[in-house]
Amino acid sequence: MGKVTGFLEYERIEEGYEPVPARLKNYKEFVIGLNADQAKVQGARCMDCGTPFCNNGCPVNNIIPDFNDLVYRNDWRNASTVLHSTNNFPEFTGRICPAPCEAACTLNVNDDPVGIKSIEHAIADRAWLEGWLTPQLPKAKTGKKVAVVGSGPAGMAAAQQLARAGHDVTVFEKNDRIGGLLRYGIPDFKMEKSHIDRRVEQMKAEGVTFRTGVLVGHLPEGSKVTNHAKEIISPDELKKQFDAVLLAGGAEQSRDLPVPGRDLDGVHFAMEFLPQQNKVNAGDKLKGQLRADGKHVIVIGGGDTGSDCVGTSNRHGAASVTQFELMPMPPEQENKELTWPYWPYKLRTSSSHEEGCQREFAIATKEFIGEKGKVKALKTVRVEWKDGKMVEVPGSEQVLPADLVLLAMGFVSPVASILDAFGVDKDARGNAKASTDFTGGYRTGVDKVFAAGDMRRGQSLVVWAIREGRQAARAIDEYLMGSSELPR
Ligand SMILES: Cc1cc2nc3c(=O)[nH]c(=O)nc-3n(C[C@H](O)[C@H](O)[C@H](O)COP(=O)(O)OP(=O)(O)OC[C@H]3O[C@@H](n4cnc5c(N)ncnc54)[C@H](O)[C@@H]3O)c2cc1C
Ligand code: SF4
Repeated sequence: MGKVTGFLEYERIEEGYEPVPARLKNYKEFVIGLNADQAKVQGARCMDCGTPFCNNGCPVNNIIPDFNDLVYRNDWRNASTVLHSTNNFPEFTGRICPAPCEAACTLNVNDDPVGIKSIEHAIADRAWLEGWLTPQLPKAKTGKKVAVVGSGPAGMAAAQQLARAGHDVTVFEKNDRIGGLLRYGIPDFKMEKSHIDRRVEQMKAEGVTFRTGVLVGHLPEGSKVTNHAKEIISPDELKKQFDAVLLAGGAEQSRDLPVPGRDLDGVHFAMEFLPQQNKVNAGDKLKGQLRADGKHVIVIGGGDTGSDCVGTSNRHGAASVTQFELMPMPPEQENKELTWPYWPYKLRTSSSHEEGCQREFAIATKEFIGEKGKVKALKTVRVEWKDGKMVEVPGSEQVLPADLVLLAMGFVSPVASILDAFGVDKDARGNAKASTDFTGGYRTGVDKVFAAGDMRRGQSLVVWAIREGRQAARAIDEYLMGSSELPR
C-alpha cells in the first residue's frame, strides 16, 4: 500500500483550473494536472483496502490500489503498465471520466476520496511524455479479418485489442475523422483531439486500417445525425469480406421535444451545434456555423451534453445562457449511508456551469414562440413530481426570451435503420440485442455480427464503451480462434 498513515496525514488535492476569464477565450483544455509530488501524496493516501471498492466501481476494473502504490514509490513506468493492463486509453478517462471509482473509494465515506482520476491522468500523460507507449505488435498474424463499424471509444478499444491478437482489423467510420463522440461530441476544452490522433497513429502502426467517410448501411431521409460519408457499404458486402463484424455505432438518435414551434429556425439538437465547433477547432472552414454570439441561449437538458453546450455558448460570447432540467434540484450532499459505494444522486456543478449559467430545475417547455420563422421565446411551466408522475403547477407559466435553443435531452437509441440493415434484433429500448455473458457474449442473433458500446447498452460513458470494446474483442477472438488470451 501507499504510506500506512498517509490517509491520516495528507489531504485530498484537487486538480487546478485556469481562471474562468482566461479559459473562456479559447477552446483549450484548462485543467492543471497534479505534478509528480502531488500525485505521490495522493498515492500515499490509498489504504489498499482488503476489499477495494474503487476497483469494482471502475467499469474497466482498473487495478487502482496497485498503481496508487507504484506512484507513491515513484515507479511510474510500472504504474503505466498496470494502468494499461485494464484500460486502452487512460488519457481519455483521466480527463473526462466522472470517476465512479472515487464515489466507491472507502475514503469517500468521509467525503475525501483518493484523487484516483487525477493519478490516472498524471500516469497516462507521463507515459506518453516518456515515450513508453509504443506500438505493440502481435506475436503472429491469424489471417482472420474483422470489420469494426464505428470509431468511438468502443470501436477503438476493440480494434486495438483485436489487432494485438493478430487479426487484420478495418475500422469503418461515416464521419471524416476518427473518435466518435470523443471527436465530435465532447468539446476540446474537456479533451483536446490530439490525444485521439496519437492513439490512431499507434493503432495504425499496430496494423489497424481506418476508413473514414464510409457509411455502413443507411440513414433515414432527413436524418440529423452527424454524417460526412462519401461512400456507402452494404452490410451484406461487409459480411462477405470479413470473418467477423463488430457494430460499435453508438446511440446517435437524439431525443426530440415535439411541442408547437419545434420547426422554428434556431431550435437545434445539441449534436448539430457541438460537432460544428469541434470541426472549426480542427481547422475546417464551415459555411454558416451555428453560433451563440450575442444570443439568449436556452439549453434544454441538465446532463453532460447540456453542460457542454453551456461551455461552448459561453466561449461564443452568448448574451445569456440558461439550462433547463425537468427533474427537481437534487440535494447538495448525498445520503452516504444509503448510497456509498454506489454512484450518488446529488447536485453536480460542472466547470462549464461555473463559467456562467442560470440553472432552472423542475421546468418544462410547452411551446417555442417565433417571429418570421425564427425562435424568439419559450413558453414554460413549473412542474412537480407526485407519486412518480409529473404534474404542472397551475399558474406557473412564463415566457422567456431565447434566440437559440439547444435540445440536449439525451439519446433515445442507436439509429434503427443501421441495425435493421444488418437484421439485428433490438431490445425493449431499441438497442442492439446482445448479452454480456462470459461465453458467447456481445453476439447478436446474426451470424458473425457482434455489438458493443452505446449501440448495445444505450447512451452511457466513455469508460463503459472501452470496457465493452475490450470484452467484445475477446468474444470475437474466441469465436474466430476457439479460445482467447485477451483479458476480459
Ligand atoms: C456531448 C457529449 C458529451 C459527453 N461527455 C462525456 C463525458 O464527459 N464523459 C463520459 O464518460 N462520457 C461522455 N459522453 C458519453 C460518451 O461520449 C459515449 O458514451 C461514448 O462515446 C460511446 O462510445 P461508443 O464507441 O459506443 O459510440 P460513439 O462514441 O457514439 O461512436 C460511434 C461512432 O460510430 C459511427 N457510426 C455510427 N453508425 C455508423 C455506420 N453505420 N457506419 C459507419 N460509422 C458509423 C459514428 O459516426 C460514431 O463516430 C458524452 C456524450 C456526448 C454526446
Ligand atoms: S476509468 Fe474512470 S472509474 Fe476507472 S479509475 Fe479511471 S476515473 Fe476511475
